[in-house]
Amino acid sequence: MKLLYCLKCNDLFSLRPNDWKSCSCGGAGGMYIDDLYAIYNGGVPIGFQNKSFLKALRNQPKEGVGFKFEAFVIPKDCPTMSNGVNSRMVNGYEIKPKADLEGANLQGADLRRANLYRVNLQGANLQGANLQGVDLEDADLQKANLQKANLQGANLEDADLRGANIDGANLRDVNLRGTDF
Ligand SMILES: [Zn+2]
Repeated sequence: MKLLYCLKCNDLFSLRPNDWKSCSCGGAGGMYIDDLYAIYNGGVPIGFQNKSFLKALRNQPKEGVGFKFEAFVIPKDCPTMSNGVNSRMVNGYEIKPKADLEGANLQGADLRRANLYRVNLQGANLQGANLQGVDLEDADLQKANLQKANLQGANLEDADLRGANIDGANLRDVNLRGTDF
């Protein structure tokens, strides 16, 4: 279970699916974008170890000391919990997980280390773009123009590249597990 803690107002709250939730001061907010993946802005993400939390709930003592459960501070770099650093504007497009970037013109854009998990980049122009280390897992890149793009170290697991142009693209160290061509 993922929660978000605001350092300014001390609110600690759980995140809902597909519905952005903020703390009382507005300094922190986030949501789940699917069963596993959450995005947030501001604040510190906290995880409750579900089993241990439920056990503590079931065993609430009548008195005396409380029943301990396990919680942890989620790392800054977490594949299933990405913060606002990963969301940025490039050429007027908001670059973030699950973004709809169909037909976007991102020619020569610097998208290094961007989180593009499940984005729609169908028919997008990424010619000569720098995509070093980007996460394009499950992304839709059908008919995208990736000519001479730098995809070194990118994650293209389960991505769809059917009809995409990858002439002259740098595919060194790219994860192509399950990628469709
Ligand atoms: Zn706050």
